Amino acid sequence: MSVAPSVEGMPREARTVTEVIEGIPTIEGAGVRLNRVFGHAQDHRFDPFLLLDHFRSSQPSDYVAGFPWHPHRGIETVTYMLDGRVEHTDSLGNQGNIQGGDLQWMSASSGILHQEMPQPKEGILEGLQLWVNLPARLKMAVPAYRDLRALHVPHVRTAEGGRVRVVAGTFQGQAGLVQGIPVDPTYLDVQLPAEAPWEIGIPRGYTSFVYVLGGAGLFGGEPSRGIHRGQAALFGPGEVVRALAGGEGARFLFISGRPLREPVAWYGPIVMNTQEQLLEALRDLRHGRFIRHQEPLVEQR
Ligand code: MN
Repeated sequence: MSVAPSVEGMPREARTVTEVIEGIPTIEGAGVRLNRVFGHAQDHRFDPFLLLDHFRSSQPSDYVAGFPWHPHRGIETVTYMLDGRVEHTDSLGNQGNIQGGDLQWMSASSGILHQEMPQPKEGILEGLQLWVNLPARLKMAVPAYRDLRALHVPHVRTAEGGRVRVVAGTFQGQAGLVQGIPVDPTYLDVQLPAEAPWEIGIPRGYTSFVYVLGGAGLFGGEPSRGIHRGQAALFGPGEVVRALAGGEGARFLFISGRPLREPVAWYGPIVMNTQEQLLEALRDLRHGRFIRHQEPLVEQR
């Protein structure tokens, strides 16, 4: 275990990389080619996170089929568009675009029906979707949308020339736009110049991982691991996560949250705690009573 002095002078244990994850090319929705970094019912390594998809293509035929009408219940979906535009429509008449650095943090909770349709464009369309689990007590709560415009996402410049967009959680005293999420997530988009170091303190028991969007770097305490674009690294226990960008810099998502350690019953876009709850959701769909709350909370920033 490597230790280093913290600001307070007490040693802090650096988290080491316990697993390097290669995404799996997957076809999802009505025919969208994407990289599934993780996401299946038997995989609890990322608890409270259920799934991470990364789509990136210069060919509209890879994505225009999109994600037509489908339900969600029991989870939150976080869509982050790096390039290009996704049009979002839901069954309650909400409509909007997520584009060019915008995010949508949607708490599906008791249920929404929506479609997410990437719009064709010249050049690259690129985005990510993370699924965040909800605790049992909130799976049937009132749905909520948080639409975050790129301009309003705060960022921090580090002493070493890094740029960190703070979506959720706190980094170097800067609070993210998204607050009050049950699993206390941190969601950062970190861009580091060549050879720049980076670190963040994270509560000991929280699940933490990075997903590299560009370049490469060394991650974790000794022995650190080299991770490159398209790979994720999961960290073991400890108090601080460290990174060191490679010779061409690095861009990565840093994501962390408090594990729920609750049973997971998963059927497609619906994630509950028991099989009975899944059957109830399917019965609700069949009988037109899936939407329990007609007026979701909407927050636009
Ligand atoms: Mn969806």
